[in-house]
Amino acid sequence: MIDFKGQNVLVLGAGTSGVAAAKLLIKLGAKVTIFDEKSQGELSQAQEALRGSKVLWNVMGDAPLELNTFSALVTSPGVPLTHFLIKKANTLKLPVIGELELGWRNQNLAISAVTGSNGKTTVASLTDHILSKQNYRNFLGGNIGNPFCNCALELMEKKEAYQTAVLEVSSFQLETVSHFHAKGAAFLNLSFDHLDRHGDMEQYLRLKNRIFINQSPEDMAIINLDAHTLYGELKARTFGFSRKKRPDFGAYVNNSTGSELIQVVEGDRVLAEGNFKDYLMFGTHNQENLMAAVGLAMSLGVNPQAALLAAKDFSVAGHRLQLVGSYKGVSYYDDSKATNVGAVVVALENFGAKSVILIAGGRDKDMDFRPLIEPVKEKVRWLVLIGEAKEKLQGLLAGAAPMTLASGMKEAVSVASSFARPGDTVLLSPACASFDQFSSYKQRGEVFQKEVKRQNGEL
Ligand code: ADP
Repeated sequence: MIDFKGQNVLVLGAGTSGVAAAKLLIKLGAKVTIFDEKSQGELSQAQEALRGSKVLWNVMGDAPLELNTFSALVTSPGVPLTHFLIKKANTLKLPVIGELELGWRNQNLAISAVTGSNGKTTVASLTDHILSKQNYRNFLGGNIGNPFCNCALELMEKKEAYQTAVLEVSSFQLETVSHFHAKGAAFLNLSFDHLDRHGDMEQYLRLKNRIFINQSPEDMAIINLDAHTLYGELKARTFGFSRKKRPDFGAYVNNSTGSELIQVVEGDRVLAEGNFKDYLMFGTHNQENLMAAVGLAMSLGVNPQAALLAAKDFSVAGHRLQLVGSYKGVSYYDDSKATNVGAVVVALENFGAKSVILIAGGRDKDMDFRPLIEPVKEKVRWLVLIGEAKEKLQGLLAGAAPMTLASGMKEAVSVASSFARPGDTVLLSPACASFDQFSSYKQRGEVFQKEVKRQNGEL
């Protein structure tokens, strides 16, 4: 491990992660320089967050960087490993440490972590919800918006007395872990995503499996048995979850009783059970999320029955298959967070044949949209396409459903409503990023919700 006291450290990226890393490094006694390619004006938020701290700023091109004067480079998840400074650091054999790894090295909490293409935020928040109800002092963070370095800093400054941490972990963060270790690690699923950064699915899968790095038989690997091909060799005890089959140890949906009974089992024994119909969450994907969260909570010592009970009143955050309202017999759902094909396929599973008017499109992340063809054929009565990807989607889905191309959300909602019959669903589930027309998936969802309400006379 590196003693940062008095050492020059270069932090790459001045977003939330970079700022948190810089603060922690300063606390550890390092002399910090922050490099970012954005302009002074764009960095004002970061500069404000670090006001009064002794950091040197190196904004794109404003000063030459002599990398050999640094003892380490700490990088943010948004920066690809192909960045010229990381390449240079590798040539100079300078340690390159990710923000998550840095945070991990500076605390000793019991950690559970979750990764996957879809469901990370839901599972991490639900696990935190369960732990909080069991009176754990838990830190919820990572990719969810509160970097793990903040946790390490709060612990060092004795501002918080956390006992556990639940981390949402992205493939970008897993690129730079080495000593990181989680007592409970869940890998939920894999869908075509982020290949603009990772190149191919094999590399994306390899990175996701790094969530299990450094685990031993005393730990728990929480795995999706319905997608067992995702996993390499696992050293930890496996807690399998499945919508179909009973695992040796884990959780599954026992449909034999006619209800959606979630059971936690070990061999012949049923350790805990809960009827999913009694929960605020809905959808088969949330059954999976619930089972994974129970596994993660168990890895931190929570009794499974207590975990199932505590999860009952958990509600999924907005823009994730969220019911906006029903007007003239038509239900409107906002699934703006569905930024890849996997999430859209899962969303469509919840509705009847030819009953969905689907609004999709946005910024394409080099996505392979082909998995949409069959579900669209089966479930979608009319497609409304928006954003930069609309022509690509139009070409691919031409035979799957009739469609209209719309210029923006206002027109999309109006066209969708005009095709919807009573009993139908208008679903915004874009399969694309939002940045072509919106600042974030949240803003895209908000605009959709506003249009739905306004066009139905509610606003
Ligand atoms: P993430 O943090 O991985 O992006 P979220 O919980 O924010 O995951 O959900 C993102 C999208 O994925 C939403 O559209 C949501 O409905 C969908 N989703 C949530 N859980 C799952 C799951 N287990 N499998 C597939 N899709 C899911």
